[in-house]
Amino acid sequence: MLQIEIRDKACRGCRFCVDTCPTDVLVFDDATQKALVKEVDDCIGCLSCGFICPSGAITHSGHHVVKNFYRNIYFSRRMEKFL
Ligand code: SF4
Ligand code: SF4
Repeated sequence: MLQIEIRDKACRGCRFCVDTCPTDVLVFDDATQKALVKEVDDCIGCLSCGFICPSGAITHSGHHVVKNFYRNIYFSRRMEKFL
């Protein structure tokens, strides 16, 4: 099962991850000025958020790492709602 962890102490509130996510998995919490995971089930495992985060605050586990993830039936089901 895919999981996303955002380390609170490392997050500097730049919002890059929120703006980058193609499927709106992440949201910005104005109260804490930190990014939060809202809909982990919508994550397609592109890893863009982790790549762009200047603090290295985001880590993923349990994700599917091959490029052609759309051939995987589990990920295909996830993608359907965005097509
Ligand atoms: S990109 Fe990193 S530092 Fe910026 S809001 Fe997201 S988790 Fe925080
Ligand atoms: S890995 Fe991709 S789809 Fe998943 S939360 Fe990060 S940017 Fe969004």
